[in-house]
Amino acid sequence: MINLRTQREIIKLQDAAKISALALQVAGELCKPGVTTWEIDKAVEKFIISQKAEPSFLNYQGFPASSCISVNDTVIHGIPSKDIVLKSGDIVSVDVGAFYNGYHGDNAYTFKVGEVSKELEKLLETTKNALYSGISEAIVGNRIGDISSAVEKTVEVCGYGVVREFVGHGVGKNLHEDPEVPNFGMAGKGPRLAAGMVIAIEPMINQGSGDIVRLADGWTIKTADRSPSAHFEHTVLVSKSGPVILTKP
Ligand code: MG
Repeated sequence: MINLRTQREIIKLQDAAKISALALQVAGELCKPGVTTWEIDKAVEKFIISQKAEPSFLNYQGFPASSCISVNDTVIHGIPSKDIVLKSGDIVSVDVGAFYNGYHGDNAYTFKVGEVSKELEKLLETTKNALYSGISEAIVGNRIGDISSAVEKTVEVCGYGVVREFVGHGVGKNLHEDPEVPNFGMAGKGPRLAAGMVIAIEPMINQGSGDIVRLADGWTIKTADRSPSAHFEHTVLVSKSGPVILTKP
């Protein structure tokens, strides 16, 4: 079932999304050489709790941290660790959500550590563009497939691989709700978008093939060919006056 949110709920979602966006900013400021992903996670957690919110991801289906931090060939669900030390040239995808007043926010960004290669710059730019082309299709009367197709078209011209096993989703009282928002598909297909729908759009794009593997820890998702991967996400409200990005600091 796809939930349509009332004005009162939208205000609460906006608050949760704002805390999520600020938490992502805290993470971004720490993506520097010599910093561990554990330190970043702890700073994110401390910030979310300081806002009287709860980290949405902590203990979600048993996830052991407050944020997913995925370096280079890790696509998503990287577990923060004292053993993962960032170095110049890395790319770091941080995915974080906050639960506040009964509602969740969810967002992700791939940060650069120091200087990164031109190839990586292009992967990040293209994935970010794919997110925004998807968002621009989040219009009343459109269908989910319009978002999916816009994302896919933006990245396929570069020969990048779209991860198909993980998709965007509705956001609300639960972190993951209907509908699914794939990063591939056909325009004009899928559920119709209505005012009050709140969805997380989140392209996960690999420099090589879209194939992935799961590590033995049960969480970490890496690219099968070990090529680097990027991930950008916003929580977006479908409104009569167009798409509204809720995850803004
Ligand atoms: Mg998400």
